Amino acid sequence: MDLSSKTASEAGSIQTASGYATDVPDGYDRAMPDQVHNALPIPRTPHPFMDNSGGAGAYYLSHAEKQASVLNPGYAISVSRDMCDDCISWFQSRSRQLGVPIFVSDPTAIHVFLPDGGWHSFDYPSW
Ligand SMILES: [Zn+2]
Repeated sequence: MDLSSKTASEAGSIQTASGYATDVPDGYDRAMPDQVHNALPIPRTPHPFMDNSGGAGAYYLSHAEKQASVLNPGYAISVSRDMCDDCISWFQSRSRQLGVPIFVSDPTAIHVFLPDGGWHSFDYPSW
C-alpha cells in the first residue's frame, strides 16, 4: 500500500492511517467507518465524492485521528496533518461522551477537547 497520500496518527501503542481499505500496512491498525460511527453515533458527514464504496460518511469517519481515538480511547493522540473541521467537531463530542479531556497534537497546534464541549487550540511557539 502506498502510504504517501495518507495521514498517520498514533495513540499509545497503536498507529493508524487514514482510509477505509481493508488491506492495512504492517504495523498499522484500522477502525472501519462503521466501527468509528458506532463508537460515537453522531450524524455522519457525507463527502460529495470521497465516500465511494465506504458508504455515507466514510471519508470523514476514516480520518486517522478518529480511528486512533476509537482503538485506544485513553491516550493522547498525534496526527501528521492538521485536523479538519469535522474531526475538531467529532472530538468535541468524543470528549463529552468519554467524560475526559482529549489531547490531539497536529503539525500546527495542540488541541485540547474538554468534556463540556470546549475546544482550545494552542499553536506551537515560533522559536
Ligand atoms: Zn479529519
